[in-house]
Amino acid sequence: MQVSEAKKKLMPKPGFLCFGIVDNCMLRCKMCYKWKEDILVENHTNVPTMADWKRSVDSLKDMTDPGFLINFGGGEALMKKDLLELVKYCHDQGFRTNIATNAFLIDEDMAKRIADSGLDSVNISLDSLDEKIHDYLRGVPGIYKRVMNAIEYLDKHCKNFEIEICSVIYNINQDGIIDLAKWANSDSRINWIVFMVPMQPNNSPDYLEHNWWENKEYDFLWSKDTDKTCAIIDELLNLKSQGFKVSNQVCQLEAFKNYLRYPGSFVKKSPCNLDKALHVSAVGDIFICYGWESIGNIKAHDLKERWYSEDADNIRNKVISCTRNCHFLLNCYFEGDYPFGLE
Ligand code: SF4
Ligand code: SF4
Repeated sequence: MQVSEAKKKLMPKPGFLCFGIVDNCMLRCKMCYKWKEDILVENHTNVPTMADWKRSVDSLKDMTDPGFLINFGGGEALMKKDLLELVKYCHDQGFRTNIATNAFLIDEDMAKRIADSGLDSVNISLDSLDEKIHDYLRGVPGIYKRVMNAIEYLDKHCKNFEIEICSVIYNINQDGIIDLAKWANSDSRINWIVFMVPMQPNNSPDYLEHNWWENKEYDFLWSKDTDKTCAIIDELLNLKSQGFKVSNQVCQLEAFKNYLRYPGSFVKKSPCNLDKALHVSAVGDIFICYGWESIGNIKAHDLKERWYSEDADNIRNKVISCTRNCHFLLNCYFEGDYPFGLE
């Protein structure tokens, strides 16, 4: 059912969009079990066609501002064979595009194909300059070297292009976080570095939501010395104030400290801002937030029609009263919060 035109005018435009284009991955990350069968996705074979994805992109044009950013994630997004065809389509329609990647598949040929697609930026996972630590966390020997080669190839072939490094602050790698920030800052090939905090691993049981960090299977990810980790984040804030290429907002880094100290208490004083987010899963299901029910599927529904539907409005009401400290809120799309603006 559709909402009235008057109500539609009061509804937000999408502020964040991610196509979770594929659900599997070749890495074996210690903090993610995407490589196991996804316990939330029942049918991996009935995925949208390229025509379904392109139709969704067309639909987005009517409800976003020019240059709106389309994010592609996964799993490992580059495992979708025709992803770059879709990126090119988005580019030709006037959207900006970003791929989050572990860089495993970015050899020289892939870098050339990325350049041809018109992709604007990549977000490459790199948790440590210590090869052993990065390879350990990502579960595949040699992935550190692949990341370094990918940076070289992308820098060589992609013009007007941004490379952002994405690093999660775990207990095992936190001693190298400041070095990583300094390295990114001094390397002219890198445009930004963004930091994240540990979250409940993908595909781990729902019942652990409220205390996963205390569970013996996962607690190795969580800081064993909160004061020390918060001091590292304070140093990141200090580097940012000096103009370092740290792309987190100040308010987000402040929220990280609250989260690490009190993971069970909601980090925001204002409501969750994911009421302006739109996600599409690998099987085409449309979500405002993955924590709530799907509002349709791009194989059968128009994205714009679903965005303005009563179902979407009902989910937004749930989102603004939700108080989970989830990955999407803290790490993906954190908006300013009193007393911090967007800095
Ligand atoms: S964290 Fe990313 S790279 Fe690692 S297994 Fe999950 S999807 Fe793959
Ligand atoms: S806080 Fe709740 S509504 Fe907001 S993104 Fe997280 S799970 Fe979704």
